[in-house]
Amino acid sequence: MWLVTVDADKCEGCEECVNNCPVAVFKMETDKANPYQADLCEGCETCVSVCPTGAVTLKEM
Ligand code: SF4
Ligand code: SF4
Repeated sequence: MWLVTVDADKCEGCEECVNNCPVAVFKMETDKANPYQADLCEGCETCVSVCPTGAVTLKEM
């Protein structure tokens, strides 16, 4: 199981994580990405790779 989190202070709202996650973990909420379906995460690391500000953190639990 994977724990994906977004540091709202670092998120610039570019939507890259929203547009590239293969299982739609993220949605935008007041211009920040919210990993609202984090339980669907498959650990592919795409969100970490595409985020330009290092706002996304992925941990294996
Ligand atoms: S690691 Fe992959 S599946 Fe998980 S939230 Fe990021 S892009 Fe989506
Ligand atoms: S890719 Fe990073 S900066 Fe862009 S919306 Fe997602 S968390 Fe925010």
